[in-house]
Amino acid sequence: MRATRAIVAAGLFALLVAAASTQQLPLKHDPELLTRGPVRIDTVKDGLFVVRGPFLPCGTRGCTPNSGDDGLIHEPGDVAVRVTPEGLILVDDKYPENVADVLARVKTISTRPVRYLLNSHHHGDHVSGNATVRRELGIDIIGHRNIRENFLRIKQPGEPNITFADQAAIHLGGVEVQLLHLGRGHTNGDTVTYFPDLKTIHMGDLVIDGMPVIDYAGGGSAIEFVSTIDNMLTIDFDTAIPGHGRVMTRDEVRAYRARFAELNTRMRDLARRGVPKTAIATLEQARAQLKLADLGWDNTVSTTAWLRNIGAHYDELASAR
Ligand SMILES: [Zn+2]
Repeated sequence: MRATRAIVAAGLFALLVAAASTQQLPLKHDPELLTRGPVRIDTVKDGLFVVRGPFLPCGTRGCTPNSGDDGLIHEPGDVAVRVTPEGLILVDDKYPENVADVLARVKTISTRPVRYLLNSHHHGDHVSGNATVRRELGIDIIGHRNIRENFLRIKQPGEPNITFADQAAIHLGGVEVQLLHLGRGHTNGDTVTYFPDLKTIHMGDLVIDGMPVIDYAGGGSAIEFVSTIDNMLTIDFDTAIPGHGRVMTRDEVRAYRARFAELNTRMRDLARRGVPKTAIATLEQARAQLKLADLGWDNTVSTTAWLRNIGAHYDELASAR
């Protein structure tokens, strides 16, 4: 009897240890395997779609002098399309050369007019199509005031003509769409678009299927990034469209947050141990010193983009000691 109880207790203990270790380390993530291909539409939920692609080698614009072949397939930002009885609402529009494709694909979802264009942040792979959309459709473009300022700062045409500070909402055809600025992270203008009736969010580059990129020139912050994702996790959602990649679950967003917090801890520990930032300047050094493979971030579509700002990432964590 006693032996049986001991075996049961031992089994229970093993189960508890297993549960604790899976909870502590929801870190490793296998990115989606992409293949080269054109722009396409995926259904997210009834009335909500995502336009993905084109899927190209080298970078989000294909192979250019600035983006050589890294062996991975890249795509410009994920565009969300919300259908309402009175027309469509788009989140982002990719590059100017993608706009015709995007709008043609959108017409296959619904022939109702596109009424509003929302912006997740100012980066060209997400919204440099703005000026083309405005010229083609003559619609209002809504974005956080820092998105507009970043457009003007980098002299990118097509800046939003309607801005907000913390949040805004659009009511169209009985559908509410919320725009929420929850803090700095990837940039200082990151906006989460919330579709409350569908419990779905579009996250811009706050969460992507790849390593997080911190655009310091665009007002980003690695430390605030994590708290901004925490703010996002207070929203009642079960489905999340990332800035790049496949649609995610809430648990995947929570795991991403955990990986990012762990990355920041490792970076801070390097600084505390006196490892200079020159020791993490190359991809090989960064992979080894920060154990990026543990996080599944050693070879993602955005690892080399993250590496460009690694000095600033190190400085931010070093000065936060
Ligand atoms: Zn971006």
